[in-house]
Amino acid sequence: MSRIAYVNGRYLPHHDASVHVEDRGYQFADGVYEVCEVWNGHLVDERRHLDRLERSLRELRIAEPMGRAALSLVLREVVRRNGVRDGLVYLQVTRGVARRDHVFPPLGTAPSLVVTARRADRAAQEKVAQQGVAVITVPENRWPRVDIKSISLLPNVLAKQQAKEAGAREAWFVDAQGFVTEGGSTNAWIVTRAGRIVTRPAELGILRGITRTVVMEVARALGLEVEERPFTVAEAAAAQEAFITAATTVVMPVVVLDGRPVGDGKPGPVAVALRLKFHDFAEIA
Ligand code: PLP
Repeated sequence: MSRIAYVNGRYLPHHDASVHVEDRGYQFADGVYEVCEVWNGHLVDERRHLDRLERSLRELRIAEPMGRAALSLVLREVVRRNGVRDGLVYLQVTRGVARRDHVFPPLGTAPSLVVTARRADRAAQEKVAQQGVAVITVPENRWPRVDIKSISLLPNVLAKQQAKEAGAREAWFVDAQGFVTEGGSTNAWIVTRAGRIVTRPAELGILRGITRTVVMEVARALGLEVEERPFTVAEAAAAQEAFITAATTVVMPVVVLDGRPVGDGKPGPVAVALRLKFHDFAEIA
């Protein structure tokens, strides 16, 4: 089945799907995005992702490209046309196409909307989760508004490439006080030796991950305690377990941090349980 993308009102073959050279996403990274997991043919936590999209747009004063019901239909149609049963759907909204000028374009300039979908290899992902992944730490160098899911991701791109070159899957940003903020495309968690789950408060220099929100519900339902507070790299290095969360990876155990094993160097029981139960708690529609 050939891939299809939605671009500003049209469903196009993937290789013909393009935006104008003066799209502000292309010129200024002036846009926002969302990534939603597709699981057994259903969207996972669509409501929360669209809530967050609307918030990101509001914060940047970008108009909504269409109403929520219409957007939901487009997402589903792109998933359907690409025959995605397990994978992800990506959506991006930019401030539209206009003559290059830093200030906002004239009132009434239509925002651009692009939606793509792609399949994931579930079996391969499960294999990775069974082994766990390695993470490196890098200095935090992003702007303070990382609560907005902006397409401006250059520090994240560089950090994740650095991780890849070090044989790791993710890079954790570390703030000036030595506390981990989050990963290049994931939220960061540890489980202390006392069995308490720790993750940084969403109000403090991180993206409020949708997976993070659901994982907290799962943890509480399993009778596990979650502490929302910053943790240091040293605390993570001494932790029982560590893991990362995102719509693309759900819960992924971290078994190596900066080249040293975390806990016993194997995926821990808390991360494994949270991963196993995640879809029982997510909204699947
Ligand atoms: N933090 C960053 C910087 C991200 O890019 C992402 C996802 O892309 C997340 C956290 C996790 O968010 P979610 O669980 O909504 O996918």
